[in-house]
Amino acid sequence: MTALPRFDTHDVFNQTPLYRDVDLFASDRPLQEAVAANGGTGELAACSAFGQRWGSGDLMAAARLANENEPKLKVFDATGFRQDVVEFHPAYHAFMAASMEAGLHAMTWNADGKRGAAPAEIARAARYYMVAQIESGHMCPITMTRASVAALAAEPALLQRLMPGISSRRYDPSFRPWSEKAGITVGMGMTEKQGGTDVRANTTQARPDGEEYRITGHKWFMSAPMSDLFLVLAQAPGGLTCFAMPRFAPAGNINGLRFQRLKDKLGNRSNASSEVEFADAFAWRVGEEGRGVRTIIEMVQLTRLDCAIASAGLMRMALVQAIHHTRHRTAFQKHLADHPLMRAVTADMALELEGVTALVMRLCRSFDQAPGERNEAARARLLTPAVKYWVCKTAPSFIYEAMECLGGNGYVEEGVLARLYREAPVNAIWEGSGNVMCLDVLRALTREPDAAGAVLQALVRDCAGLPGSAEAAGVIKESLAGADSEVRARAAVETLALLAAAAALAENGTSRIAELFARTRLASRRSAMYGAAALDSDAPAHVLARALPD
Ligand SMILES: Cc1cc2nc3c(=O)[nH]c(=O)nc-3n(C[C@H](O)[C@H](O)[C@H](O)COP(=O)(O)OP(=O)(O)OC[C@H]3O[C@@H](n4cnc5c(N)ncnc54)[C@H](O)[C@@H]3O)c2cc1C
Repeated sequence: MTALPRFDTHDVFNQTPLYRDVDLFASDRPLQEAVAANGGTGELAACSAFGQRWGSGDLMAAARLANENEPKLKVFDATGFRQDVVEFHPAYHAFMAASMEAGLHAMTWNADGKRGAAPAEIARAARYYMVAQIESGHMCPITMTRASVAALAAEPALLQRLMPGISSRRYDPSFRPWSEKAGITVGMGMTEKQGGTDVRANTTQARPDGEEYRITGHKWFMSAPMSDLFLVLAQAPGGLTCFAMPRFAPAGNINGLRFQRLKDKLGNRSNASSEVEFADAFAWRVGEEGRGVRTIIEMVQLTRLDCAIASAGLMRMALVQAIHHTRHRTAFQKHLADHPLMRAVTADMALELEGVTALVMRLCRSFDQAPGERNEAARARLLTPAVKYWVCKTAPSFIYEAMECLGGNGYVEEGVLARLYREAPVNAIWEGSGNVMCLDVLRALTREPDAAGAVLQALVRDCAGLPGSAEAAGVIKESLAGADSEVRARAAVETLALLAAAAALAENGTSRIAELFARTRLASRRSAMYGAAALDSDAPAHVLARALPD
C-alpha cells in the first residue's frame, strides 16, 4: 500500500493511488487487438507513443481545468460594440492544439479532400478513443471539422480553397478571416428552437445575392462558436439547402453571426454551445438548393461514428478507474477485487466494453473499406445508427456502475467519474437521438432491403455458430419487417448491435470473449444491472486481466 500522509488526528491509509501516467494503449489489450484485426497493425507503435502522451498526469490535470473554467461569451467590447467572441481557458486551447497536431480533425482525408487510404479510419479512431478518455469537450470541433469535408465535397471548388486550412496540423485560435489563418475549424448549425430532428421545419431564410446568399434567422444549438466556418441549413427559394457561413465575410468584415448566450449544460463543459442569430449573414451554397438534408447527412454519418467512439472512450476510462480502485481498496480484510461479487460486476462491465470496442473498431474498418467494397458500404450504412444507438445509450449506466465501484470517492468532483458521467448522455442526444437512430436503421432496411439482408447474413456467418446468433438474426428480421416495426425498433436495433459486436469479437480472433459475450448477451436476456451475467468461475479473472494488466 502506498504511504499516505499523516493528518493531525489520524493516519491516512486504504485510499487508492491516483490512476495517472499510464500508457492508454499498452494497457488496453482489447483495443490493441481490435486495431490489429481491422488493418491497423502498422499503427501499433505510434498508438503506444500516443497512449503514453495522452495518459500523462499533466493532461489529466489539464482536462479538469478545461472543464472547471468554462468558456465565456463576450458579446460586447468595453465601448459597447458587438464582439461576439468566446474566451476559453488555456487548457482548452492546449487540447485543441494537441488534437490538431495529431491530425484527428483531418487525417482521414488527403490534401485534395478525397478519402485517405485504409487504415486511416482505424488509425484515427484508436487515437480518438484515447483522447475521449481524457478530455471529450474539445472533440466537438475536432469531430465537426473532420466530418465537414464529406458535406463540402458537394462543392468541389470551395472545398479546394478550404482544404489547406482544414488539413493543416496547426491550431490557430486567432480571430481573423479563415484565409489568413494557419489552420481552421468548422462547425455545424441545424437545430432551431422549433426542432432539431425535424430540420425540414427550419425557418431560417436564405436570400440569393448574386452567386452567394444572405441568411437571416437563428440556430438554437450551435456548438464550437469560435469555428472559422459553419455548415448551416436554411430555406432557399428551392427548399432547404446547406450553406457554408464564414465568421468573416470575404470583404474582411465580421460576418452577421450574433451569439445570444452560451448553453448552461449538464456536461461537455469545456466546449461552448451557443444560441445564435444570423443577421443577413454571408454564405456560400453547398450542393444544390433543396438538397440540404442530403448534403449535410454525409457529414452527420461521420459525426455519428465519432459519438460512438467517444462514448466507448468514456466507458474505458470509467472501467479502468473502477478496476484500479478495486485492486487497491480493501474492505473486510480483502481487496475489493477479491470479493467475488465485486469481481462479477467489474468483469461483466469489462465484457461489455470488449464488445463495444470490437464493434466500434470493426465499424471504422467498414468506413475505411466502403469506397471500394459495396458490402462494407452497406454495413456502414446499416450499422452506424445501430452502433451509435447502443453504444451511446449504454455509456451513462455503465459509467454510473463504475462510479459506484469507487463508492463515495466516485461521486465527488475531484475524481474523474463525475465528469465522465455528466459527459455521457450528450452523445446519445446530439447527432440524432435514440429513436431517430432506430428509425434510421428501419429506413436503411426499407430502402435497401437486399443490401441490409446481406449485412445480416454476413454478421451471422462471422459469428460462426456463437450461442444465440442465428436466433438473434431471426428476431431482427421479424421485428423490423412487420407492420409494428417502429414499436419494436428499439429491441431489434439493440439486438442488431449486440449481434454485430459478437461478430466483431469473433473476427478479432478472441473466441473465448466472443463466446462469453454471445452467451450472456445474445443467448440469454441480459439483466439491466452489471454483475448479474452468468459467467464461468474462471471467466472474471480472464476478462479483467485483458482489461487492465495487474
Ligand atoms: C450540448 C449540445 C450541443 C449541440 N450542438 C449542436 C450543434 O452544434 N449543431 C446543431 O445543429 N445541433 C446541436 N445540438 C442539438 C442536437 O443535435 C439536438 O438537440 C438533437 O438533434 C435533438 O433535437 P431536438 O433537441 O430539437 O429534439 P426533438 O427533435 O424535439 O426530439 C425530442 C425527442 O423526440 C424523439 N423523436 C424525434 N422524432 C421522432 C419520431 N419520429 N419518432 C419517435 N421519436 C422521435 C427524439 O429521438 C428525441 O428523443 C446540440 C445539442 C446539445 C445537447
